[in-house]
Amino acid sequence: MKIVINPSERELAAALARPKLESANLDSLISDVFSTVEKKRDQALKAFTLQFDQVEIDDLVVSEIEFTEAEQAISTELKTAIRIAAQNIERFHRSQENREMEVETTSGVICWRKSVPIQTIGLYVPGGTAPLFSTVLMLGVPAKIAENPIRYLCTPPDKQGKIHPAILFAAKTAGIDTVYKIGGAQAIAAMSLGTETIPKADKIFGPGNQYVTAAKVYAQRLGIAIDIPAGPSEVLVAADDSIPTSFVAADLLAQAEHGIDSQVIFLTNDESYAQEVLKEVERQLEILPRAGIATEALDSSTVIVVEAEKWGDLINLYAPEHLIIMGKYEEQIVQQVTNAGSIFIGKNTAESFGDYASGTNHTLPTSGFARAYSGVSLDSFVKKITYQKITDEGLRNLGQTVITMAEAEKLQGHANAVKVRLDSVFPDIPSDKLQELELIGKVSVLSRKSVEGFIRKDLRDLKPYSSARDEFEGKGEVFLDANENGMVTAYNRYPDPLQQELKVAISEVKNIPTETIFLGNGSDEVLDLIFRLTTTPFLDSVTYLNPSYGMYSVLAKINGLRTKTIDLDRNFQIADSEILAQAAGSRLLVLCNPNNPTGNVIPKDRLLEIVREFEGVVVIDEAYIDFCPAYSMADEVNNYSNLIVVQTLSKAYGMAGLRIGMAIASPEWIAALNRIKPPYNLSSLVQETAIKELKTIPWNEIKTEIISERERLTDFLKSHSLVTEVFPSEANFILFRMPNASDYYKKLIEHGVVVRDRSSQFNCSETLRVSIGSKIENNQFIQIMQNL
Ligand SMILES: *Cc1c(COP(=O)(O)O)cnc(C)c1O
Repeated sequence: MKIVINPSERELAAALARPKLESANLDSLISDVFSTVEKKRDQALKAFTLQFDQVEIDDLVVSEIEFTEAEQAISTELKTAIRIAAQNIERFHRSQENREMEVETTSGVICWRKSVPIQTIGLYVPGGTAPLFSTVLMLGVPAKIAENPIRYLCTPPDKQGKIHPAILFAAKTAGIDTVYKIGGAQAIAAMSLGTETIPKADKIFGPGNQYVTAAKVYAQRLGIAIDIPAGPSEVLVAADDSIPTSFVAADLLAQAEHGIDSQVIFLTNDESYAQEVLKEVERQLEILPRAGIATEALDSSTVIVVEAEKWGDLINLYAPEHLIIMGKYEEQIVQQVTNAGSIFIGKNTAESFGDYASGTNHTLPTSGFARAYSGVSLDSFVKKITYQKITDEGLRNLGQTVITMAEAEKLQGHANAVKVRLDSVFPDIPSDKLQELELIGKVSVLSRKSVEGFIRKDLRDLKPYSSARDEFEGKGEVFLDANENGMVTAYNRYPDPLQQELKVAISEVKNIPTETIFLGNGSDEVLDLIFRLTTTPFLDSVTYLNPSYGMYSVLAKINGLRTKTIDLDRNFQIADSEILAQAAGSRLLVLCNPNNPTGNVIPKDRLLEIVREFEGVVVIDEAYIDFCPAYSMADEVNNYSNLIVVQTLSKAYGMAGLRIGMAIASPEWIAALNRIKPPYNLSSLVQETAIKELKTIPWNEIKTEIISERERLTDFLKSHSLVTEVFPSEANFILFRMPNASDYYKKLIEHGVVVRDRSSQFNCSETLRVSIGSKIENNQFIQIMQNL
């Protein structure tokens, strides 16, 4: 090996130059082989085999008997070794199986990609003195994982017409059951063209001599794929003097013994260490069986001595098939390497591990191809098909984009292919009109056709939990279907999951059709279920007013949603256009009406306009609506698929302790909520008690009384000298401003009256909120306030 020390750029280029491959002069010979095989097929193969391999072959196919004989002919140790290697190769290549996800690039536009095995795989393994059965594993195992439907091996026979038993055993181990006794360029020609016996391959793999290599290049012209462009094997060993010279010398010789054209580069930073390594090479050469080949290969190889800082660049310039990096700089250099086929890191990592048994593939890019090519992997045996599917929604969302681009490229046919479809989905809207609608944001009106579109995608086909009581309808006598306890009878039965009787009672009192009612454990549960049903965690946002009911932000958090708040002005007012602008893009808009803690209302006509304009779902929380029924949106729910009204029995109906809230929405919404709710969310005790309360208590009288008490308290607060502002309320509470509110809050408590300090809420500084209680309670509050 020649040594170059701190080479100039020119010297370096010369040192790293690879021997020129001569392939052109084989062209006519190869094309002769191909045309003969094309004409005479199997007969040509036998003739070439006699001519080049000096053996007469009757049957090109290796028989089962030959496989069995091969298995008997090799040692147990070798069989075990081959099996271990195959296992590791399989493990490593299985890790390359990746399932790719479906991606919805735009709503309704679904794209994905899938690996599909190449149909017919032809493997080539050279024969001769060194039987490369390791290559059989490296090519056969990934093909087995890829499940290529047809896979076979071609390899030349020896003078007795036999195949080396290790090759046959490795083939069986790798799942290759078909082996043909044919080698050289004629084998490649047979795989490319097909003969009576050998099927035409779609892709050819495997190493070979210059004839085989030239034949593979020729095959490409016929449209057959090949694994990678081939050249002589090569290694670059980079090591410093912390590594025993025997390690480095052995690695250099391991490469050199491959063939006289093998290239070996040794990179180090110390000249005397380089000399030591060369002496060690001489010593080891003496006892190497293939010393002749190795010596010749080493003659054209080089030692480069250069400081370690430059190793990274030098390696990338050379782009070695194999890179062995050992010593103090190994981690650092590995980070810098961008061009290499396979990298062996650290003093224990001889290239031989990768050549045989660690699991990585040893079919690697040579001759600098590592700059752009990868070695053989599972990917080499598959092709990846892309798929896509456009739904009506996708057509609507992306159609115009495609039309615009196609027309700009002056490909009207492309544009038309989308236009005809758009027109058929929206027959009454011409596509140019649709574009207009899309631009002004009105296209969402079209998507309002179904509640389905508002439901979180992955919940649309959710199969609900089915309880025993759901499944059995009708009259039974003995119920042994729900693991209840029949020994006791007070509360042993599960309650009606759909609370039919209670819904009828509510329907009578509130004048709301039962089929538009959903019941939950308080409206807090109802709101939570609406959030879950309509929004996708970490993707969607919810919008609500500020200040408003504090649970909205909590629910947003626990449902993983971003929040947008719309700040009200000092009188807690805001324009509709502002609400719509700020809520744009949100999945949910929650409006509390009358608002808590302010008590004011947004009139119905304005709410309807918001519902019409907003693209997502509008939830109107009407916890206090019973005090101002004229503002209720409950009678609009069948007109708008994006409207859900939430009410409760906690406030006006005096049942806060029973926990009954409701969603009022179109029956489609009710069905969807029923699918996701816990099956028995209202206990039988609650259902019975609520029915009784609803039927026996004179609710209208009580509501009237609360309202008149509210007016009494309002008048009182307005006349109070310490109260600076009383906000008009349509609910059963009053928000009022009083400087030093928190002091008065404490003083009220000292006298036994608890109100709510709302000072920390937005635009609510120095405010207290007082609920309307019984006459006696209200008098107590008035009395204490008067004495402050
Ligand atoms: C009190 C209240 C609720 C909660 O009602 P429950 O049915 O008792 O859970 C919901 N929204 C608003 C605005 C409230 O003030």
